[in-house]
Amino acid sequence: MELQHKEFLVQKHKEWASVGASIKRNEMDLFNKQLDNLRCETLKDLCSLLIAGKLRLVTDDEQVQIMKSQTQETGLLTSQIGNKFDFWKQIDDEDFHKWLLGKYHPHTANCLHSYYIRYADIFFSPNPDVELFKCANPKRSWILQAIKRFADYYLSRYGNKDVKHLISRIIERYELNRGLDHKDRIYLVSPNFVEEKINKITSIPGEIGFTCRIGLFSGLREDEIIYIRTRSICDQAFGCQCEKLHVANCRNGLSVITINWIRGNKKALATIIPTIYWERLRNMLKFDQYDIQAAHKILKREAGIAYIILRKIHYNVMRFKNAIELDEAEVLAGRFKSVSARHYALNDPEKLSGKYISAWQNFGVNISENI
Ligand SMILES: [Zn+2]
Repeated sequence: MELQHKEFLVQKHKEWASVGASIKRNEMDLFNKQLDNLRCETLKDLCSLLIAGKLRLVTDDEQVQIMKSQTQETGLLTSQIGNKFDFWKQIDDEDFHKWLLGKYHPHTANCLHSYYIRYADIFFSPNPDVELFKCANPKRSWILQAIKRFADYYLSRYGNKDVKHLISRIIERYELNRGLDHKDRIYLVSPNFVEEKINKITSIPGEIGFTCRIGLFSGLREDEIIYIRTRSICDQAFGCQCEKLHVANCRNGLSVITINWIRGNKKALATIIPTIYWERLRNMLKFDQYDIQAAHKILKREAGIAYIILRKIHYNVMRFKNAIELDEAEVLAGRFKSVSARHYALNDPEKLSGKYISAWQNFGVNISENI
């Protein structure tokens, strides 16, 4: 009896369990690098360190500091004095500018470059939040875009991802993205650009002009416009959860339409368009991707933009001077997750469409008149 018990204990000690974890493929190199920094060759080495209690949590600030000094070490040859990090100062600003011009519209490239020049020092300083939160949201958004594009540039020029990791860590640590629209896309363009394009779009005549303005006023994607033309309409009010469209015709001449068409991560939740546009669209005998392609060509020629850019301009109009609040604009752009938030944004169509009218008035468009 005694002997059996001992054997059992011995056996139990020999038992091993396998622990594993999945990480994102694009974080593999970061993972290997961090293992390397801890002088671990394998995950097993890491587990041994962990069990031996040799790892401790570093604070967020310590981590940012460590990343800065790693970036400084692996970066270009620099003269480092004490805790002063300046790897970003070693790059050729003009080369960065040229790189931006090769990738973006000249206006965007110039804006990104000048924001980078003005704010890089502040961004990499010990408390970037203090200065950056003094900037209005659209400006802070531009600054962060500029800094992120710098990381892309650094990676493409030097094959070094440290700057990219460092930048996203700093943004996270100081919550520099807080309250911003579209965290990783350039959605905000200059009001002058928007105004100029709107003027050109509203002067395109005929069927083509109508097709362009449907895109501009609805902010929908091409297939979504085609979808709402023929989708059947439910006669219940807005709260109804069925798969049909629900339409509120407001007294101010606007129609608020809930769509709820979801394919993967592309969503069309709701849109607002002038009722006369809505009725004309519904009464068209034919309207498909060929009509949009035709409009796209004319739009390119007359206004210098692609059809899909209409969606972007629409978003800018909605958000200019906060005419439509962020949550509401996100619903209209098909980017809101919570059902209750969606109901909240759409529960007063008259009020929402009123805000929509003021949004267009900011750009001199009187939406409730016949355009
Ligand atoms: Zn219904």
